[in-house]
Amino acid sequence: MSGKQPRAARCPLCGSNIEPAMEKRSDSLIQAASRADPGLQGFDYLIVGAGFAGSVLAERLARELDCKVLLVDKRPHIGGNAHDCYDDHGVLVHPYGPHIFHTNSAEIFEYLSRFTQWRPYQHRVLASVDGQRVPLPINLDTINRLYGLNLTSFEMESWLDSVAEKKAEIHNSEDVIVNKIGRELYNKFFRGYTRKQWGMDPSELDASVTARVPTRTNRDDRYFTDTYQAMPLHGYTRMFERMLAHPNIKIMLNTDYREIVDLVPWKHMVYSGPIDAFFNHKHGKLPYRSIRFEHRTLAQEEFQPVGTVNYPNDYGYTRISEFKHITGQRHAHTSVVYEYPCAEGDPYYPVPRADNTALYRLYEAEADALDNVTFVGRLATYKYYNMDQVVGQSLAAFKRICQQRRETPMPTATSMLDAVTQECRS
Ligand code: FAD
Ligand code: UDP
Repeated sequence: MSGKQPRAARCPLCGSNIEPAMEKRSDSLIQAASRADPGLQGFDYLIVGAGFAGSVLAERLARELDCKVLLVDKRPHIGGNAHDCYDDHGVLVHPYGPHIFHTNSAEIFEYLSRFTQWRPYQHRVLASVDGQRVPLPINLDTINRLYGLNLTSFEMESWLDSVAEKKAEIHNSEDVIVNKIGRELYNKFFRGYTRKQWGMDPSELDASVTARVPTRTNRDDRYFTDTYQAMPLHGYTRMFERMLAHPNIKIMLNTDYREIVDLVPWKHMVYSGPIDAFFNHKHGKLPYRSIRFEHRTLAQEEFQPVGTVNYPNDYGYTRISEFKHITGQRHAHTSVVYEYPCAEGDPYYPVPRADNTALYRLYEAEADALDNVTFVGRLATYKYYNMDQVVGQSLAAFKRICQQRRETPMPTATSMLDAVTQECRS
């Protein structure tokens, strides 16, 4: 053994050191494995993916059950798509697009509050339509400004009723919108954006996709109305660092789990990558939508009046987000990100439609049949989940693990060692 120190990984976007990474097949990995469980040389859990899904479970298992955990990610950083970092100009950015935390769950908010303080933040979005920037979700001001009207909330309800194209049944993402606000507003705000974002017509997508964006008859211009809306005060990456700072958790970056899965002893796997890849696409590829993120830093304090401006009908990008609105940072420069949706690239969005769900069910059945692997997260359960939903899913998975252990206690590394010691003594 050479005793070589782990190298620091670098974020590909900002170049900053993120986290000491263990090298594949290196002495440090072998040492970590043996440190994890002296005598037994292994980990209780191999966790694939250091995003919310994998990190929450790593934290819970290590802290509450004293399990030895190896957390592996093929990227050079922790945090998954929620990772943030400072760019070359010192502006805090989200390399994988703007991430705004919002939840109605006190349990989820309180859990994350163990690892971060918060900065209250209410996200606001404008849509660039007919040469104007108007509030989105569509509200009373949107309609009055777009049509030069002076409606009250009450009048807007009747106005919407008069333009809505009532549907007997809602089958897809077109129906749900035209049923509520009619075809003209649907064409202005939803049709073009959705075609860009998903590469298909709204009529080809589940209703749940466009139903994420409500319509309001009041003047509330917040994008979300959840009880808890806030950003981690020092960023997501800092929050993840604190979550994972436990002696039972070893982190291995720049590593596809397949490179080490047969090298390191482990008892149970938690998998948060794409589920079809886990099964070598044996039932065919599940579609995931990707995005090309174009980051720019500008020598000006502000670029746009709100966190995000959507462009439903023009340009190849769907939206531009300016990070300083979201993070509250003060800086002479400002950094923005343009989102260009695309088919190829990292998988970011499951594509909600019936045939994809049917294909996912085949993989889900395979997953259910595996006793020693737990599937969690947006890619592994093929669900269009926000961050809080993924945290909730992981906390629920942890509760199930605790329950199973009470029913058929899985020997932890320590308890196995205790048993051996007892045996030796008797
Ligand atoms: P991920 O964050 O994708 O983590 C999975 C990890 O697994 C990745 O780091 C990946 O590298 C790793 N991995 C995959 N395969 C392997 C392998 N073979 N070996 C090793 N590692 C592997 N949610 C909100 O609540 N608010 C928002 O404002 C918001 N904005 C978003 C904007 C965009 C553009 C996108 C794409 C998503 C947004 N989300 C938002 C959703 C949020 O990103 C997800 O809910 C959350 O990050 C999912 O966490 P996860 O752990 O399931 O997955
Ligand atoms: N959407 C739209 N126009 C908009 C904003 C959203 O048509 O200006 C539709 C689009 O299909 C999008 C979906 O609503 O994918 C959900 O929007 P959301 O802002 O929740 O998307 P995300 O932040 O998850 O990308």
